[in-house]
Amino acid sequence: MNGFVLVDDGQGRRRGVFPHLAAPALVHAVTTRDGPDLGDEPSHHPTHAVAAGALAVALGLDGAAWAFQVHGDAVLHADVAGYAGPGDALWTDRPGLGVMARSADCPLVLVAGERPDGTGIWGVAHASWRSTVQGITARLVADLALAGADPSRLRAGIAPSAGPCCYEVGEEVRDRALKDLGPGAAAFFREREGSLHFDLWAANRAQLRGAGLRDEAIVTAGLCSLCRNDLFFSYRREGAAAGRYAAVIGVVRSGRVAG
Ligand SMILES: [Zn+2]
Repeated sequence: MNGFVLVDDGQGRRRGVFPHLAAPALVHAVTTRDGPDLGDEPSHHPTHAVAAGALAVALGLDGAAWAFQVHGDAVLHADVAGYAGPGDALWTDRPGLGVMARSADCPLVLVAGERPDGTGIWGVAHASWRSTVQGITARLVADLALAGADPSRLRAGIAPSAGPCCYEVGEEVRDRALKDLGPGAAAFFREREGSLHFDLWAANRAQLRGAGLRDEAIVTAGLCSLCRNDLFFSYRREGAAAGRYAAVIGVVRSGRVAG
């Protein structure tokens, strides 16, 4: 099963889901501008904690962990709900605990699967261009593998973000990508009418493939936050005051039913 579909969250708000990620007890969501808006306040701000907690609970989780996203390469392991520190990817294997990232244009990459012993493991990456060229998505999968996951059995969803249609960048971004990712990164850039576009979706799919995921286990939502600014917040369209949509994923504790 492929694709990315918008569903009603039961409170009249649209949220996106990747049907191919479905597994017993695994829940996830990509919010839209219908809310909750994960805002532009600091990551440790109380209003952020309230919104993140409510989102997690609505999915049947006990809570969610999140990071202060710094456009770097750090992958954090989360063991408790709440603020986990600075980093751009987060994973856990603790039932009841979600991991969450937020965005206004940057791809959020959800990854989940079951280890050979049947226990679940899941994570999320905030794959801004800076984090993408630093390999954040590959680093997340590498940490999941170190924790016992078989990458060939993981599934991933690349959430809506600025798409290759709209994500115009300067030459310095391509230079940095070529330097950090190697000459193969040239394939992620297109020159059109005198401007340069970076395909972050392709770049992150390539990282997931390189880290061992099967191609058919990776779904790109394919919705651009600039083209579909009616659905998703966009920093490039709306500026610094833009809200933030979020992606959260987790496994509910046994005996709990997802909402
Ligand atoms: Zn677009």
